[in-house]
Amino acid sequence: MALPPIENTPKQQRYDVVIIGGAMIGSSIAWHLTANPDFDGSVLVVERDPTYEFASTTHTNSCIRQQFSMELNIRISQYGVHFIKNFRDLLGGDPEVPEIALHDYGYLYLAGTQDFADYLIECQKLQSSLGAGTRIMTPDEIAAEYPFYNLDGVVLGSHNPIDEGYFDGHTIFDWLRRMARRNGIEYVTNEVTSIQRDGGAITSVTLKSGEVIACGTAVNASGPRASVTAQMAGLDVPVEPRRRYTFIFDAEEPLEKDLPLTIDPTGVHMRSDGQYYLCGCPPDDDPAVAFDDFEADHSIWEEKVWPAIANRVPAFERIKMTNYWIGHYAFNTLDQNAIVGPHPDVENFIFANGFSGHGLQQSPAVGRAVSEWITHGAYQSLDFTPLGIERILEGRPIIEKAVI
Ligand SMILES: Cc1cc2nc3c(=O)[nH]c(=O)nc-3n(C[C@H](O)[C@H](O)[C@H](O)COP(=O)(O)OP(=O)(O)OC[C@H]3O[C@@H](n4cnc5c(N)ncnc54)[C@H](O)[C@@H]3O)c2cc1C
Repeated sequence: MALPPIENTPKQQRYDVVIIGGAMIGSSIAWHLTANPDFDGSVLVVERDPTYEFASTTHTNSCIRQQFSMELNIRISQYGVHFIKNFRDLLGGDPEVPEIALHDYGYLYLAGTQDFADYLIECQKLQSSLGAGTRIMTPDEIAAEYPFYNLDGVVLGSHNPIDEGYFDGHTIFDWLRRMARRNGIEYVTNEVTSIQRDGGAITSVTLKSGEVIACGTAVNASGPRASVTAQMAGLDVPVEPRRRYTFIFDAEEPLEKDLPLTIDPTGVHMRSDGQYYLCGCPPDDDPAVAFDDFEADHSIWEEKVWPAIANRVPAFERIKMTNYWIGHYAFNTLDQNAIVGPHPDVENFIFANGFSGHGLQQSPAVGRAVSEWITHGAYQSLDFTPLGIERILEGRPIIEKAVI
């Protein structure tokens, strides 16, 4: 499918919707608008960096889980699963669009304390009431199925081997963007540098190149830069860039079966990655960093990650790290949950921010929800109101303990 090159200058001076940020979330919103039969407006997506060098989307680990403690987060991922498994059909059935596999080896949360075990048991009840395949496993049950673990200190595990694991998020992103463009959405390579308001309404955005583009609705899909974009509209959102480390390693003796996405009590996580393995962790000291700060801290591998994974899987004493990268979470400092929906004082400014470590899997449901809000002024499939910015303004966090 040949598409014309992306220009720097918008074709029009006014759009019904301007989306600020054209990575996974911005593109999912754009594509879902085109798929919404009731939407017939014009849409401009402004993306400052077409290489996506600093975007969260290009640094992701690309996994999806239903193991959340909040019903809405579970349902959001269930739509994500549906979207992944029916990707080609949902995008219109063109045989050029690839099918996307979901490698469902599941997340395996290992509880090292009775408190966390009790929390996982509670969550499992909710998850299974919503149709998720989560099961609580004793250490003996884990050992019988996955003999490669050292389970010292493990009270229990919570594992979901159905519709939970790795998917190719990069391909989904690429095709959502292509199909949004094919369906008439205009992308430009440019940067929104200021936003104009008339009282409680956004009226226009100004681009780095100087054009002032009038808009009916503005969407903040700027990832780790969400607060900079919000401030342009005179609003605050508690989102900041935080570094997250990912390492790929090769094992001298590969495991006999796939390694579930194992979340160790140390906070280190690891999983199979084709013939290799992937692992990662947050740093112990976890400050906000500059938008272009991707500096490596080599002690993390030696001092934190490798000891934790070699302890949990003794075969990983003989491994070789072959690659690593550092990405930024768009970290919501209140509760690490998404912030989605309009601002109560500026109703045509829509947030789609703060996804921390789960924005890729949430992008289909967020795209659908924001497209519904823009089209109908209300959510139609899933009610995203609990994830609105009101909770931030009122200081009411949604606590998810099982975050990675
Ligand atoms: C290491 C790591 C592992 C992860 N693992 C997972 C996982 O396993 N599963 C999962 O679901 N999620 C995961 N995530 C999270 C997920 O990748 C993100 O939540 C998701 O990609 C966010 O997409 P986004 O479009 O909101 O942000 P980004 O991808 O950061 O995109 C924002 C875009 O906005 C653009 N922009 C910003 N300001 C402006 C402006 N003023 N004008 C124009 N353009 C602008 C930027 O250039 C950028 O391209 C992970 C993230 C990281 C870093």
